[in-house]
Amino acid sequence: MGKGELDPWGSDTVKDYSRLLSEFGIEPVAPLLPRFKKLSPHLSRGIDFGQRDLSRVLDAIDGNKPYAVMSGIKPSGDYHLGTKMTADDIIYFQSLSKRATAYYSIADVEAYSDNGLSFRETEKTAVRHVADILALGLDPDRAVVYFQSQEIRVMRLSSIFSRAVTMNMLKAIYGERPIGLYMAALVQAGDILMPQLQELGGPKPVLVPVGADQDPHIRLARDLAARYHDEFGFISPSAVYHKLMLSLAGDAKMSKRSETTLLTLSDTPSAASKKILSAFTGGRDTVEEQREKGGRPEICPVYDLYRFHFAHDDEHLQRVFHECTKGIRLCGDCKQEAASLVKSFLVDQQKRREAMTSDAKELLARSAKHLASAGR
Ligand code: SF4
Repeated sequence: MGKGELDPWGSDTVKDYSRLLSEFGIEPVAPLLPRFKKLSPHLSRGIDFGQRDLSRVLDAIDGNKPYAVMSGIKPSGDYHLGTKMTADDIIYFQSLSKRATAYYSIADVEAYSDNGLSFRETEKTAVRHVADILALGLDPDRAVVYFQSQEIRVMRLSSIFSRAVTMNMLKAIYGERPIGLYMAALVQAGDILMPQLQELGGPKPVLVPVGADQDPHIRLARDLAARYHDEFGFISPSAVYHKLMLSLAGDAKMSKRSETTLLTLSDTPSAASKKILSAFTGGRDTVEEQREKGGRPEICPVYDLYRFHFAHDDEHLQRVFHECTKGIRLCGDCKQEAASLVKSFLVDQQKRREAMTSDAKELLARSAKHLASAGR
């Protein structure tokens, strides 16, 4: 990838979000906030910072019209706090209207192309992921969960799309990549546009909540929606972008590429606690200096734990920020508090996930039946 470009498969974090607004045409979310009846923590804390055509989805909510929330997960490891961000957004936007359907793709084609994992290997992981998102609050009655490789519509759309894209176009969006990743990108465009097929209710607003680094996929899907508008009636998909949380080393985004600096929803509470206690912080070299100058939450992955997931509410988050920047809070105590929040979350989540395993299998089976009976 060229310097400054977005890499959906990489581990770089985004340093300057305002540049995404000015250079990539992502619009800020802030002007649309008054249209929400209740803000999610992602919205009230500026974590969801950008959007494309989000007003189209808000119009559907106001008009009690159907819309879809679409995202997916690559089943290449345990669910981690970075992927939980997208899950939180899916669940929130699904909850805003009874007319919303959540589509959740298990990106096994991408797991094969990017990580060399066989479809059989990824199947087991996928059930755990579905149980995780159910445990986080996804409403299974308005959700369709499927494997990319098994959904003929997605594969067919990706073949259809391959007619309209050239190597130059893919290189311009993704840089030089193996053909498998280009194919996975086309499959993902198939995922994003599938909910608009006639047999699934026809063209409708589709919101894709993604991390900021995934914008290349959104741009490709929107380009293809325009190119195939006459044939399928596609409406350009909407997107909401969240900021990327830091790995515990503070030098990259939290991703499966670095296990030691990653917190997963399957970590034992004590292992998670150990990782947090040895995390990088935005603290100063000495207690005296910290008391005098305050810490730097803007570069601190421990602060990200509070901000992105574990602060009880916005007031709690503001308190952490205030105490940190004023030198009232020291990193050791701050880490202990974060570790204890994470531990109690993990105990609950793992209990809930265990109880959801059969629901996850049932949702996968019910979705497969629903998609098979929808006609093609
Ligand atoms: Fe990070 Fe907490 Fe230290 Fe501030 S006090 S730099 S938030 S660990």
